[in-house]
Amino acid sequence: EKNDKDVKEEMHKKEDCKPAVFIPVDRLPEIQEARLRLPILAEEQVIMEAVREKECVVLCGETGSGKTTQVPQFLYEAGYASSGGIIGVTEPRRVAAISMSHRVATEMNLPSGVVSYQIRYEGNVTENTKIKFMTDGVLLKEIQKDFLLQKYSVVIIDEAHERSVYTDILIGLLSRIVPLRNKKGLPMKLIIMSATLRVEDFTENKRLFRTPPPVIKVEARQFAVTVHFNKRTPVDNYTGEAFRKICKIHRMLPPGGILVFLTGQAEVHSVCRRLRKAFPYRPHREHTGTQTHLSKRAKKKKNMSLPRINLDSYSALPVDEGDEDRQAGIDDNDNEGSDLELGDHPDSDHEEKADPSIPLYVLPLYSLLAPEQQAKVFSPPPTGARLCVVATNVAETSLTIPGIKYVVDCGRVKKRFYDRVTGVSSFKVTWISQASANQRAGRAGRTEPGHCYRLYSSAVFGDFSLFSEAEITRRPVDDLVLQMKDLNIEKVVNFPFPTPPSSEVLISAEQLLISLGALEEPPRRGRLGEMERARLSCPITPLGRAMAAFPVAPRYAKMLALGRQQGCMPYIITIVAAMTVREIFEDYDRPAGSEEENTKMAGKKARCVQMRRLWAGQGQSVQLGDLMVLLGAVGACEFAGCTHQFCEENGLRYKAMLEIRRLRGQLTNADGSSDSVSGAVFTFASDSTPLLDDPVFIHPSSALHKTLPEFVVYQEIMETTKMYMRGVCAVQAEWIPKLLPQYCHFSAPEESPAPWFCPLSGRVKCHQQSTFYRVSWKLPAIEM
Ligand code: ADP
Ligand code: MG
Repeated sequence: EKNDKDVKEEMHKKEDCKPAVFIPVDRLPEIQEARLRLPILAEEQVIMEAVREKECVVLCGETGSGKTTQVPQFLYEAGYASSGGIIGVTEPRRVAAISMSHRVATEMNLPSGVVSYQIRYEGNVTENTKIKFMTDGVLLKEIQKDFLLQKYSVVIIDEAHERSVYTDILIGLLSRIVPLRNKKGLPMKLIIMSATLRVEDFTENKRLFRTPPPVIKVEARQFAVTVHFNKRTPVDNYTGEAFRKICKIHRMLPPGGILVFLTGQAEVHSVCRRLRKAFPYRPHREHTGTQTHLSKRAKKKKNMSLPRINLDSYSALPVDEGDEDRQAGIDDNDNEGSDLELGDHPDSDHEEKADPSIPLYVLPLYSLLAPEQQAKVFSPPPTGARLCVVATNVAETSLTIPGIKYVVDCGRVKKRFYDRVTGVSSFKVTWISQASANQRAGRAGRTEPGHCYRLYSSAVFGDFSLFSEAEITRRPVDDLVLQMKDLNIEKVVNFPFPTPPSSEVLISAEQLLISLGALEEPPRRGRLGEMERARLSCPITPLGRAMAAFPVAPRYAKMLALGRQQGCMPYIITIVAAMTVREIFEDYDRPAGSEEENTKMAGKKARCVQMRRLWAGQGQSVQLGDLMVLLGAVGACEFAGCTHQFCEENGLRYKAMLEIRRLRGQLTNADGSSDSVSGAVFTFASDSTPLLDDPVFIHPSSALHKTLPEFVVYQEIMETTKMYMRGVCAVQAEWIPKLLPQYCHFSAPEESPAPWFCPLSGRVKCHQQSTFYRVSWKLPAIEM
């Protein structure tokens, strides 16, 4: 039996199809065997020829055809990582960057220092790295340091069909970088990979590529999938419906793995729990990976149900943020879930009776799940058991789970929405697109003919949009605009976006950046049209450059710039780090467990509430609120050496604290590298205030709940049952005239005490009294 290496060496000898270079890879026989079954192997020569001839190639292939794992290997073998440059692969999700780098390292039989990954805080890149998997945000940051990306000989943009914002921007930038590199005699290749055939936004976009890049299709050996629609569409209880469907499949249908698509982490866990109760599965505990922990405790309390630690991560608000897989913020910023997860054991009390002779091996899968837990879905289930993966849309295209014959599709997805007018964010569950539904169904036909059960009617399916819209159309772009300005792309409207955001969105982003002081004010003169245009090409200020150096959203970056100026940088870094890492507190308001469990949890909660009050400044004259709680929590934790025990005792999420620590390090370094502006003086922003008609509330979990601060600042408004402010901090009235004089109206003492409105300046002058919006209060005398 010839292995791939022999075949290639033979090819190498034959003059007609001689690859330019051939770097041998010593794969294990079983890996080689599995590789040869992948459809993409048959296309290797076509792909590599296209790559050799063209600057940019688009590659489409069904999920599981081998794009992510094999194309980097083709390139490696063809010498693309042997003459100085390396092979870079971007992924929109951290999960994929980590797990694919591990997989490729294993397949190539190379150490992880050669096939590495880099995500926002962590990575294993070394000097020997030849193939580097990273999140798209990481590569965008690298472009800021070196526009020509001279480190790379090839960049692969993976999962382009997902249309994540950074992926879109990267394609726009690379469409310029690659020709520039080649012109300078530093050859570079771009490969865009997509799981769907819908690539016109890239290929037919004349602003991106003057000559459309070739599109190579990989024909996957896809088996027939029979689609079954529900007669009725459940209005909201689709998790219950999914559970019933899984039970039915498991009881009545022949062997074959089940893959269930739900929308978020909480739903995944709830269905997993119910399934484990219905089909208790005990004999193979070693597969749960929590064996030692379980057995220790099990010895102590026999037959007692085990405490479930942080099944669903804490959120300051009662929202199920679930599986906001994608990145938010300027770098990849999706929160890591807790790995304290003990949910992988079968619950001992079973409500629903079922035939225990049929083992069902239930595994959750979502992007925040710890990598070790995620990796389980790739190994075959224990002998005789049926695999059932309960997943979010991370399983739609990012990860291919072997052995799936049945797909249960709830037809929904959770997305973050942002209201441009009000500035309110919310997570909403919405219908997926027809393209997504078909992707999901396709997961059932990878190894044999399969079935897809759609928990909605064919009429509802008919109303789905054909394709999912690009993320850039439903999210603010202030961070992107700042990054572009930092790359000296002044006229952002002219940027070759695969899908351009509306000029309204771009204008409001520039407006925000101007008010933060990151962009220069446009000249006030000129007609409206001219002003509009001027506003869309404001150059970046030194402050803007300093802000762009920080891997956080512009508002936070401004806080950092001000923090430096006010001489409280370490504190501001800590607060910003803690604000960008969501869910730093454990959630003690989880659904009820056993009585004992509840008592224990109530005790913990009481202690944590007390600690948070302390951190909020209880007993001190000034109570600032949530940001001080963050500062106090991180400070206390660090003082205690950032131990697991301290976190556990004080209701802090250990993993979040470690993440904050890493981000603090990163922000401190970024601060050092932007010293160029340290002499400049910046003013506080005069942010355009969102136009909210409805009242907003301080959330019960806030340290300021039930206090009545006159003025507050907030991190963001999240809409759940009400409009709740997140990250609330009280503002003392006397700070306002000092820090935000632009909102105040002052008068000289000699003027009449009656307020006098000056229409030109738009300010009201008053004596020793200041009006802030419509509220008046006595102003302490200040130096002006
Ligand atoms: P694509 O990118 O085209 O969706 P991939 O390259 O991700 O395809 O996957 C190719 C094959 O490799 C699939 O059959 C998948 O099941 C397998 N695979 C990927 N990652 C792993 C892993 N960690 N362990 C075992 N098999 C894997
Ligand atoms: Mg892939």
